[in-house]
Amino acid sequence: MYPQQLANGRWLAIHEPLHKDRLIDHLRGVTTLGAYLLDESSQGRLLVLDADDKVAWQWLVCVSQALYLGGTTSYLETSRRGGHLWLFLRRKYDGRAIRQFGWGVLAMFGIDKDVVELFPKQDVLRHGPGSQIRLPFGVHQKSKKRYGLYYPTGQPLAATLREQLQLLAHPDTVDRWSFEYFRQHGEAVAEQKRKRAFTRSHRPDGHQGHFAQMAERIKSAISVRQFVSQYVELSRSGKGLCPFHDDHDPSFNINDDENYWYCFACEEGGSIIDFWMRWQRCDFVTAVNELSAILRL
Ligand SMILES: [Zn+2]
Repeated sequence: MYPQQLANGRWLAIHEPLHKDRLIDHLRGVTTLGAYLLDESSQGRLLVLDADDKVAWQWLVCVSQALYLGGTTSYLETSRRGGHLWLFLRRKYDGRAIRQFGWGVLAMFGIDKDVVELFPKQDVLRHGPGSQIRLPFGVHQKSKKRYGLYYPTGQPLAATLREQLQLLAHPDTVDRWSFEYFRQHGEAVAEQKRKRAFTRSHRPDGHQGHFAQMAERIKSAISVRQFVSQYVELSRSGKGLCPFHDDHDPSFNINDDENYWYCFACEEGGSIIDFWMRWQRCDFVTAVNELSAILRL
């Protein structure tokens, strides 16, 4: 099974073994193929950072240059509006570890999650093959252009497509130490954000007097799970699709013991007041007023 790009830019899953001729068609620009980033055991050996616009692309160029100075080679590939940064791993890792590594790289350079997208998009595959990425040297079916690969220095990988292909057959990979270094950083940053969501759900909200008291009454009137389940479909273990981002894999979580919610993708969370502020896009005082009306306090 492999993905093929349609003329409108969307992707179709082809349920056939991949024949060499199809790859040659891809290189000739007859069709455009992609690759899934995770295998059936949710493992992969590739991280791709995707920049959708010129600004994000400039960030990726800086990242690749900084990584290069630290001894890690990554490959830049320009695209229709921005581009991709390819990082080949020395061995297979779990999707979750690959994504932690990716977040670690981005966090290290102060890049926000909504500026650059991470592939693979899933930690674990639950249904379907997950996210795909266009294979290098393919013609983009919408722009009809072919994009090459570059070193962080801005030089093309090689002068011709054939030579680039040969180089890419044995790419430089991220060594074990660099991988672990960034992965641990990514994990630590995520943990920090989770803790912040937890603290937020337990703080007196920084407000004084009337609204602080109201907030405490709201929080003790109903559990986060009970309230949120009226708006988000939750599994028995408290997982669901996050209503605050384009979620395909349940990233939204309720922690029943600590009584707060958290989305692993947005890295947002907190009490039911935080939930309502995001749901209604309103400020704290409005949320408190609305919730006390809803809960008839
Ligand atoms: Zn989310």
